[in-house]
Amino acid sequence: MKRRQFIHKLGTGAAVTAAMVVPQVAVAKKKFRWKMVTAWPRNFPGLGTSANRLAQRITDMSGGRIQVKVYGAKELVPAFEAFDAVSRGTAQMGHAGPYYWKGKGEVFQFFSAVPFGLTAQEVNAWLYHGGGMDLWRELYARFDLIPTAAGNTGAQMAGWFRKEINSLEDLKGLKMRIPGLGGEVLKRAGGTPVNIPGGELFTALQSGAIDATEWVGPYNDLAFGLYKAAKNYYYPGWHEPGSVIECFINRSAFEALPKDLQHIVLGACQAANLDMISELTARNQQALETLVNEHGVKVRPLPDDVLKKLKTLSSEVVEEIAAADPFARKVYASFNRFRKQVSSWSGIAEQAFMRARAL
Ligand code: CA
Repeated sequence: MKRRQFIHKLGTGAAVTAAMVVPQVAVAKKKFRWKMVTAWPRNFPGLGTSANRLAQRITDMSGGRIQVKVYGAKELVPAFEAFDAVSRGTAQMGHAGPYYWKGKGEVFQFFSAVPFGLTAQEVNAWLYHGGGMDLWRELYARFDLIPTAAGNTGAQMAGWFRKEINSLEDLKGLKMRIPGLGGEVLKRAGGTPVNIPGGELFTALQSGAIDATEWVGPYNDLAFGLYKAAKNYYYPGWHEPGSVIECFINRSAFEALPKDLQHIVLGACQAANLDMISELTARNQQALETLVNEHGVKVRPLPDDVLKKLKTLSSEVVEEIAAADPFARKVYASFNRFRKQVSSWSGIAEQAFMRARAL
């Protein structure tokens, strides 16, 4: 009986396919040439390379029906103009971090990283199964963009400091490259946050134009040579516990694709999301050992009282942003509800296990 039903379905399908064969072939043969602009230097380890792999994956998965050419920062547009370039259709997709667009609205930062917020695993849970992605799409739709996660850095490092941080006093007057909400928190702690593109960090730190910088973690930071400009490498990355790397797609370009290619583009981004966290998790400790053993880097924890203060200030900052704009309030409500729920679960799952493993 089941076999007969199957054959019957197959027969119906074949009839439908025969009727539609001409337009389907025409669509299947159509080739799309896309440009991907990025906020990273070309081939930059972990981020630039991830953009390259995503582009290649889309090309491979589509059998060459979409050819994606990657442009590093400044090759087509400067790092911080990638969003506008894709929004107006100069490029079809972009690879960056949502908090780079805070000038368009503070709420963007919720989709990158919230200080003392969600880990990589938790933020993926919020985006894919907790309502986060719908809110993100609602926001980017205003700019004719479709956003999606295309990577995650995992827990970052607190950063590189020319001087030691032993108390809250040491944050006063500190000029530090730290983007997003973390920067606002640093400002309230008495520091001076600045945001400059990754490619310019090393020079700024070495020349003394800034006293400290955060970037990502050992694997990415080693590649930048930041250890040559400062030796104190602090953890944990309280400001970026699991930062989302985004891919945003021009809506018209996306809608011009046949359905299967739309699925390929979004599926490739989801694969890239898994790929980046896996790569960084695999490489970070190796890179950290190189930094310590070959370059004399001092790995230091931020003092607990400093972290507690930063946590209090973080809540203030995030709540103020939420109070200032109805959409931000909606995002914050979703994020906060999810954080409470998932923190309880993580407490008896990962956190309890990590504790047990360290016994
Ligand atoms: Ca960072």
